[in-house]
Amino acid sequence: MSFYKYKDFIEEGDLVLAFISRGLIKPFTVKSGEFLNTRFGSFEHALMIGMKYGTQMGGVKDRGFIHLLHPSPELWTVSLPHRTQIVYTPDSSYIVQRLGITSGSRVIEAGTGSASFTHAFARTLSDDGKLFTYEFHEPRYIEARRELEEHGLLLNNCLITHRDVCNDGFNIENLPEKFAKNGGLCCDAVFLDLPSPWTAIPNLSSVVSSETRVGICCFSPCIEQVDKTIEALAEHGWTDIEMVEIAGRRWEARKEMVRDVLDVIERLKQIQGKKTQGIESKRQVKLEEESDKKRSADQLDADSALPEPSGKTTKFNPFGKGIRIKEGDEQFNWKQVTKVETEIKTHTSYLTFAYLVPTRS
Ligand code: SAM
Repeated sequence: MSFYKYKDFIEEGDLVLAFISRGLIKPFTVKSGEFLNTRFGSFEHALMIGMKYGTQMGGVKDRGFIHLLHPSPELWTVSLPHRTQIVYTPDSSYIVQRLGITSGSRVIEAGTGSASFTHAFARTLSDDGKLFTYEFHEPRYIEARRELEEHGLLLNNCLITHRDVCNDGFNIENLPEKFAKNGGLCCDAVFLDLPSPWTAIPNLSSVVSSETRVGICCFSPCIEQVDKTIEALAEHGWTDIEMVEIAGRRWEARKEMVRDVLDVIERLKQIQGKKTQGIESKRQVKLEEESDKKRSADQLDADSALPEPSGKTTKFNPFGKGIRIKEGDEQFNWKQVTKVETEIKTHTSYLTFAYLVPTRS
């Protein structure tokens, strides 16, 4: 199992993601002799060995089933144990492409937090790139280091450091040779998910590349933080500063009936006619109390005898009376429309981007 490469079959010791239901994916490590217990039944690990990733597996007493998925950074993000707020795929994928991060990039990330973005970065950087991730909260650092080790990220391209980057900067003493470039970090991309990125920005100059354009993204939930970050970026020579927000919305596509203006006019006339008759009937009620019931019944009969809009009587009433029309019914004209959720529920953070361009002498 690896976050870098896919394989076909489940083996002992693999990290597998059990897709239990929409919104519930449970990570576990395959160990013979153990069972995965879910509300859909109990699933024996030993039976999973040799199964193809993606298999739908039935429970011991056939009560239900789960799907056994290969881990990916995207699935890990929606199943990982939360130690902090995390960066989700809509943001991380945008940041990666906007900073132009590819295999071979050298990236700084602070703080590591729950290591959601760490997995996405590590996969993108592949074997050639390097990721330097920093966390100052010790229990979180220990937990993240254990997880990254178990997932093979530390063996590959990732180095985690226990550090307060705002006070102590990003330089790493005794940097392993495999991770060094020109004797240092020499990074070309920076991602800061910190409460006060503006205090870390002054510490970046000694760890970013002086030969290539360097991109930065600061991830902050409040606009006041964005203000301070922009000031610090400008003060330290970062340019092309731009703030964006990823607002994920659900769009619903459907068909809306194209209505004929002549039908609308006809219908308005009908309504007007019924109103007049209604007023007349009330007047009569006052005058002839005894025959009220009979007259009302007559009036109703007269109403139902009113003509439907011209030309449409056999197939439909476009205004909702009569037969129910199925959306897209080929007898009628339709236009394709989209509807959007009115509220944006997905605000996570503002993304402030900027670039540091090497000066040519
Ligand atoms: N991006 C992470 C993810 O996707 O899982 C989540 C990061 S979390 C919101 C912010 C982390 O930054 C916390 O774990 C916090 O302990 C760490 N942190 C805050 N200030 C720091 C500092 N000065 N140096 C290093 N880490 C810091």
